[in-house]
Amino acid sequence: MISDEQDNDSIESEYEALLSFMYLSPVGLVRTDPYGKIDMLNPMATQLLMPLVKSLGLENLFETLASVAPELRNLVTSFRESCGSICVNHRVHVSSAADGGIVLSCTIVKVNDEVLITVLTDVSCQVATERRLRQTDSWLDAIYTIVNDFAVLGLTKQGVINSWSPSAERLTGYTESEAIGGTLRRFCSFTDLDVDVLDEHLTFAREEGWYSRDYLCQHKSGYDFFAQAMIAVLREEDDEFSGYTAVFRDVTERKVSSDNLANLLTKDHLTGAVNRAHFFNLAEKEFARANRYQHSISIIMLDADHFKHVNDSWGHPIGDEVLKSIVKIAEGVLRAGDTIARFGGEEFVVMLPKINSVEALVIAERLRSSIETSSVDAGGEKIKITVSIGVASMNDSRSTLKQLLTSADSALYHAKSKGRNCVVDIDDF
Ligand code: GH3
Ligand code: MG
Ligand code: MG
Repeated sequence: MISDEQDNDSIESEYEALLSFMYLSPVGLVRTDPYGKIDMLNPMATQLLMPLVKSLGLENLFETLASVAPELRNLVTSFRESCGSICVNHRVHVSSAADGGIVLSCTIVKVNDEVLITVLTDVSCQVATERRLRQTDSWLDAIYTIVNDFAVLGLTKQGVINSWSPSAERLTGYTESEAIGGTLRRFCSFTDLDVDVLDEHLTFAREEGWYSRDYLCQHKSGYDFFAQAMIAVLREEDDEFSGYTAVFRDVTERKVSSDNLANLLTKDHLTGAVNRAHFFNLAEKEFARANRYQHSISIIMLDADHFKHVNDSWGHPIGDEVLKSIVKIAEGVLRAGDTIARFGGEEFVVMLPKINSVEALVIAERLRSSIETSSVDAGGEKIKITVSIGVASMNDSRSTLKQLLTSADSALYHAKSKGRNCVVDIDDF
């Protein structure tokens, strides 16, 4: 008897403990029948369900949740087991993100045929965090897509390619195994100047921290494209220089339209030679480069002989054709890094970087003879033309652009006075 009373006492105290657990529980607990009729719920459940309670009051759990989780009733009726979890952590969106984003996690346990226990937890914060992470993910995805447009590659201190991204393969057509161990020459054409140009750009990058410019590139399959490149210096933790990272981006479309504009601004409209103003821009850079690397520069000044006579005999339009042909012939003789500029009517200046006076004389003579031996077609008749040339090269006492131009001009004057169709070096008279 006594033991029965003790048993009853302990059951009662367990029940009280359970009730107080329900009461204090930080999660919402709801006891219902299989149809959702509530016979017990704790304060947390009341609090969580309150936003959904309408005029009907909080009597039936499934009705209360019907507007936001109509599927719950179905889940319960289609659950055939005699007991077990009907759903676990089922998300119920009580209000939209704009309306505070209340999200409940709902677990329904079938205790027996008469009793369901539903556990509700507020997971709004967790869901918000997840949403933020997803947004971060899509942000990263977007960056990754943009980054896909950029080819990223690594270079050793010597400029040898030592890392190659899939995007670099897409941009250039070369696979990693084809590119690694080579240099940027693999796909960049350094037509501007000769082979030292790449080293020079890397040197600039090393000295300044980075170097950026547009390169004409060739895709493996043969087509040309313009890439904007940024070469940045890589440093180890101890600040030791360890190589370069180069980022390339195809800018062909932008380049083509800006090239049209650039041509208008920098080229002589008749002959396509560099215009006078732009020549001074280019020369300024070239002279800075020459001083930096102790290169020489030679300047050639070239003037068509008796050009007035050409105009007078054949007309101005034919004179124009002759001027164009002079530039065309010169471009065939000159290297890619040389510059021919139209300085005045029938007077041209040629800048020859890294060329000393001996080499300049050879080039000038080649120019003169190529023009002499060619002719311009004027309505079936061949027009012959000659040019006089003055040459000046850098030396210890002559190092500025102004000095070279003045000297080449005096040499040209001498060539004219010597009878024309000849080359005169400023140091030869
Ligand atoms: P020299 O051998 O002494 O240089 O004699 P030249 O006749 O070439 O020199 P001059 O300076 O007497 O005449 C230059 C001529 O060039 C005069 C000018 O009409 C012509 N000219 C200048 N610009 C153009 C041009 O754009 N088109 C044509 N067709 N002629 C031009
Ligand atoms: Mg002339
Ligand atoms: Mg002239």
